[in-house]
Amino acid sequence: MNTALRLYGIVGHPLGHSLSPVLHNWAFAQAKIPAVYLAWPLPPDSLPDFITALRTLSISGVSVTIPHKERVMSYCESLTEAASTVGAVNTLFWEDGRLVGDNTDLAGFLAPLRSRFAPGELRSALVMGAGGAARAVLAGLASLRVKEVFLTNRNAERCAGLAAEFNAVIVDWEERASVSPDLLVNATPLGMAGARAEETAWPAKSFRSGQTAYDLVYNPLETRFLREAKAAGCELVDGLSMFLGQAVEQFRRWTGAEFDLRGARELLLNELATRS
Ligand code: NAP
Repeated sequence: MNTALRLYGIVGHPLGHSLSPVLHNWAFAQAKIPAVYLAWPLPPDSLPDFITALRTLSISGVSVTIPHKERVMSYCESLTEAASTVGAVNTLFWEDGRLVGDNTDLAGFLAPLRSRFAPGELRSALVMGAGGAARAVLAGLASLRVKEVFLTNRNAERCAGLAAEFNAVIVDWEERASVSPDLLVNATPLGMAGARAEETAWPAKSFRSGQTAYDLVYNPLETRFLREAKAAGCELVDGLSMFLGQAVEQFRRWTGAEFDLRGARELLLNELATRS
């Protein structure tokens, strides 16, 4: 067995909040794989230099986050079907010496929905936010064959571009509570720990019992959006489920192994509690 230490890491800017190093280093240790996973804060202009470093240092795999997910595609020698469908890359790995871009946010977003809904079962969904994460959400909803997908965003132009790409119905940001879909997805940072913690993308009075509320924000785990959805009798999906889902797919891509999801969730809940 080759026992040389393998090098992995995450690039993004800023990176201060990332849980990925804690999670992947734990997973490598659990699987007894000699590897280390580092955080590399990388300003937008430095991406070409990083790609040179990636090749020179034989870095085995990389997680990619804001603001590099779309630009990094042009440096990949091939893309997986998921990366092409979403139009963004969050994972780099090597295949026969070629740099491949994958998107595991798609599988991560879908994991908690697949266990609840059969394809075609969800009639409608509203996605709030039209940034990078919303791309994976919209691709996921298409693969779940959701009949009617609404998209709303503060910046209307950005909303229109993404809606056209994924065949979604545009809803004006100020009018978003006028729809009453089966599934509500918060793909904005509203509710995140810090200055936005008490903000929400959805008015409490507009929840309907029986709806599913899915928040991509995972710090805090129970956002205001989820707290108010729970009070209204909605089903809840928290952002940690997606985060763990995308990470376990990355780990599988890199190592062929899986990590224990229950243990990983416990690890991250402890980590979040320590940080708060
Ligand atoms: P992004 O590309 O920066 O997009 C942010 C989106 O949020 C944009 O649509 C932006 O609207 C909107 N937004 C920002 N501030 C807002 C405000 N004050 N009011 C209304 N809308 C606002 O970010 P992203 O990558 O899509 O990530 C979005 C969220 O998902 C983040 O909180 C991120 O942490 C979370 N996320 C979670 C996971 C997971 O695994 N759970 C994965 C990816 C992302 P404008 O276009 O108008 O600026």
